[in-house]
Amino acid sequence: MNFPADFTSLLSRTGKLVALTGAGVSQESGLRTFRDAQAGLWQQYKPEDLASPEAFARDPQLVWDWYAWRREAVKGVRPNPGHYALVELEAKIPAFTLITQNVDGLHRFAGTRNLLELHGNLQRVRCSDCGTFAETWENDSGSVPRCMHCNGLLRPDVVWFGESLPRDPLEKAVEAIRTCQVFLSIGTSGLVQPAASLAHAAQSNGAVVVEINAEATPLTPKTDFFFQGKSGELLPKLIQAVWGN
Ligand code: NAD
Ligand code: ZN
Repeated sequence: MNFPADFTSLLSRTGKLVALTGAGVSQESGLRTFRDAQAGLWQQYKPEDLASPEAFARDPQLVWDWYAWRREAVKGVRPNPGHYALVELEAKIPAFTLITQNVDGLHRFAGTRNLLELHGNLQRVRCSDCGTFAETWENDSGSVPRCMHCNGLLRPDVVWFGESLPRDPLEKAVEAIRTCQVFLSIGTSGLVQPAASLAHAAQSNGAVVVEINAEATPLTPKTDFFFQGKSGELLPKLIQAVWGN
């Protein structure tokens, strides 16, 4: 892949950039998309029956067990060159914000600092009644653990189907997008809101919209630059092409 000169010179001059990532950036770390991740005995369930407030109210143990299983699957998984290239990008761009829809924690693990986790994080839990966060809880294989303060059931701190996004990271994301010069969408299908609307907002505020994805998406026809390929390969090449060594 050769990046066009107008693109590399644009990036080298960019003062403010927002990147948005989705499940695709973690694919090369061995993590699958939400629906693919449902393997074995979980296959019989619809995603909404494992990841919604209604499901948790109906059968908290089932939902807890599903997340315990996913936490186990993420254990031992490491960031890939795409995650590390984004850490390098943060060092090159004066004002850099990374918005992620992933809940796997791999951007933080890799070392990204200005990170907005829009869908929460698998490794955190909070009380479903009083909202208190819990750092530690009883063994994952047992019954659903309870809050130290109010005895409510603990739940994963992730955004479920039908829930709104956490206000603080969403507000920060919108603010970063308002003034960014370049918006870079990576490894997201853009089907889940607000991914699609964030790219659109950036564009209407005058940002150049760039996409890196293994396949074309609904966003692709609207982009200023589209680079087709794996983020773990293209992102390190992009850093090399713009800043060299
Ligand atoms: P998605 O599954 O809808 O789309 C993934 C996109 O990544 C696709 O467009 C695909 O073409 C692209 N892709 C696949 N491999 C790639 C690669 N190696 N390099 C570049 N692109 C690649 O994912 P989404 O848009 O993030 O939306 C799914 C939802 O599921 C999100 O809400 C997210 O929170 C959740 N989710 C999170 C994780 C995780 O934390 N790792 C995993 C699965 C799903
Ligand atoms: Zn509580």
